[in-house]
Amino acid sequence: MEIDVLKKVPISEQDPGVRAHNFDEVCLGYSKEEAVAEASRCLNCKNARCIQGCPVAIDIPAFIHQVSEGNFKEAYRILSDASSLPAVCGRVCPQENQCEGQCIRGIKGDPISIGKLERFVADWARENNIKPEPPKNKLDAKVAVIGSGPAGLTCAGELARMGYNVTIFEALHEPGGVLVYGIPEFRLPKSEVVAKEIDNVRALGVKIETNVIIGKSVTIDQLMEDEGFDAVFIGSGAGLPKFMGIPGEQANGVFSANEYLTRSNLMKAFDDEYDTPIRPGQKVAVVGGGNVAMDAARTALRLGADVTVVYRRSEAELPARVEEVHHAKEEGIKFNLLTNPTEILVDDNGWVRGMRCVKMELGEPDESGRRSPVVIEGSEFEMELDTVIMSLGTSPNPLISSTTKGLEVNKRKCIVAEEQYGKTSKEGVYAGGDAVTGAATVILAMGAGKAAARGIDEFLKNR
Ligand SMILES: Cc1cc2nc3c(=O)[nH]c(=O)nc-3n(C[C@H](O)[C@H](O)[C@H](O)COP(=O)(O)OP(=O)(O)OC[C@H]3O[C@@H](n4cnc5c(N)ncnc54)[C@H](O)[C@@H]3O)c2cc1C
Ligand code: SF4
Repeated sequence: MEIDVLKKVPISEQDPGVRAHNFDEVCLGYSKEEAVAEASRCLNCKNARCIQGCPVAIDIPAFIHQVSEGNFKEAYRILSDASSLPAVCGRVCPQENQCEGQCIRGIKGDPISIGKLERFVADWARENNIKPEPPKNKLDAKVAVIGSGPAGLTCAGELARMGYNVTIFEALHEPGGVLVYGIPEFRLPKSEVVAKEIDNVRALGVKIETNVIIGKSVTIDQLMEDEGFDAVFIGSGAGLPKFMGIPGEQANGVFSANEYLTRSNLMKAFDDEYDTPIRPGQKVAVVGGGNVAMDAARTALRLGADVTVVYRRSEAELPARVEEVHHAKEEGIKFNLLTNPTEILVDDNGWVRGMRCVKMELGEPDESGRRSPVVIEGSEFEMELDTVIMSLGTSPNPLISSTTKGLEVNKRKCIVAEEQYGKTSKEGVYAGGDAVTGAATVILAMGAGKAAARGIDEFLKNR
């Protein structure tokens, strides 16, 4: 296969006109030939800056070198030594800001498609039934992990590899956290990809108990005092949605993005075989501009709605990944930028009939460094709608912090934990991921889970 070393080998995607009407995966992945060709562009740098950009420190040049030689099994061994969820990360990590953002090839041409190669190797391993090696030695100590999102799964996988007895306690009926209830099927297939990577974590010896709400079914203090757990990792995420606090927000037809996506993804409302109700809406506005907003908008579109994203800053400030915005536009999502809702308009029966908005302009930068939006006087207008999906961010649920003695939280209800090893104010209790940082990314949650596993290992060895 002929390649231009300065250009990425293009990857196939479903046609936008077709995929706007189905929930199948958008990106179709590399073939073997394409993966080998893309890997051959890598310079195998001695001082590989890509590794510094990876929060779980995958030996990127080594795995890419194995792909370029066609040794996919060895490539998978290198990947799975550092990451419990390579097929997930290869699909949803913001590589453009991490490994690929640092890639030396990117100085003159396109960076190496590290994420797409990671996805290729993990998919190849799954299709060929190759699994990570279980530990040879077992230790006596027991560790409880709260939450089965990327932070919990990574921490559990790392500890199991070290030989510890690990049990994950998950509040929902299915493990995976945001990977199963938030990110839609068309970006991250659930049974084919997420469930299989969770099976690999189980294959390391990790037990997963679902339908257990820590703080309600049992507390952390009881786990440690009565149930014999020697250490605890909290990876309970940040699943509590925020609202704007504007008039009319209580109307029927206003959803949080979390509820809308959970109905569709976890409860499978998009699939006719399930009877979970969802209100697809005919004219839908999604308020917000992050990845979650793009996922909600693209889900509503696939359910048959005419969808507009309403965001108060300009396109340059959209926090969603560029790839997601590009895909959303290709599929026919409209964007009403520099626009802010001031009121949800409600009909006589208590249902949404529209949204009053104002136009904004960008003023001076605020503390986040982004130019803050300022209302343009006299710019009020109304949008006719039947459904509004609020996607304004989330914060940690205070259930665990309010039921655990001596666990410090900050003003935003995030658990206070040391950055290096996730140690909290309570002895033997570690934390990481969105529960500590607030809503962030899969790979940062995984990096925190991995760091905490090292911290827990040190703690248990030095007791
Ligand atoms: C719609 C959406 C799209 C996203 N897209 C991307 C993306 O493209 N790329 C990216 O990198 N990031 C993305 N993110 C962010 C990313 O998914 C999160 O940062 C990441 O999942 C955080 O991992 P976590 O393990 O800390 O928490 P979570 O994934 O939230 O997992 C926490 C788990 O803990 C469980 N839990 C909570 N409380 C309790 C309790 N008391 N007892 C037992 N279990 C409990 C929850 O049920 C959940 O399963 C997205 C987020 C959303 C919502
Ligand atoms: S920085 Fe880029 S070119 Fe260099 S080893 Fe990493 S992926 Fe390859």
